[in-house]
Amino acid sequence: MLGVTKQLLDLQQADGKVHEVVAHLERLVVHRRQLEAKITQERADLAARRAALQKLELDSRSRNLEVDELDSRIRAYQERLDKGIISFKEMEDLRTKIASEKVRIGHLEDEALDLMAAIETAREDVARAQADHAPREEHLQAQIAAIEREIQETEQGQLAQLRNDRASLAAALPPYASAQYEALRITFSNPVAGIDHGTCGGCKIRVSANTVERVRAGREIVTCEHCSRILFSL
Ligand SMILES: [Zn+2]
Repeated sequence: MLGVTKQLLDLQQADGKVHEVVAHLERLVVHRRQLEAKITQERADLAARRAALQKLELDSRSRNLEVDELDSRIRAYQERLDKGIISFKEMEDLRTKIASEKVRIGHLEDEALDLMAAIETAREDVARAQADHAPREEHLQAQIAAIEREIQETEQGQLAQLRNDRASLAAALPPYASAQYEALRITFSNPVAGIDHGTCGGCKIRVSANTVERVRAGREIVTCEHCSRILFSL
């Protein structure tokens, strides 16, 4: 193989390795984001449970207040009725009002009791969710920290080394070959391709016998007449 073509092939392999590591880092970043989203979601769930409990407590307070108000109203009616310094018609009205308010207060008291039961359940629910949440978040944070460590170590270690190697290979190339390779790399991840049974390994199209022969002779950089990739003999 022509020396410079071999150098280009080495460069391509180095680029392939850099690409693999970068892709791995990208997957790690995606995974980290997913874990962070999970933490946000779990915190939101917990907050929603707390808010639901607060709403029940608020409802319960206002229901108890209504019961108290209604109760004092009934007492006031009863007092007027007991004093008896009102007409028969008014007395009848008051008795009717007292009876209907007593029915209402009964309903409100039932509601208040239901709310108390719901609060009890919601409190247990919040307590359980809170207890579950802490260790789960701790576990997620530990996973995130491990991913961040891996990202940092890979960037500073493996990736830095591969980029150094790549830079050395590129620097050793004649400028014209390097320029040709970089121009092809804008379009192709593999600017250097082998000829396999007369076919370009990049575009999979048959190249001319003359091209095959020139590649085999190894005197110059030969490119595929279809896709312009730099060719070598397998
Ligand atoms: Zn081709």
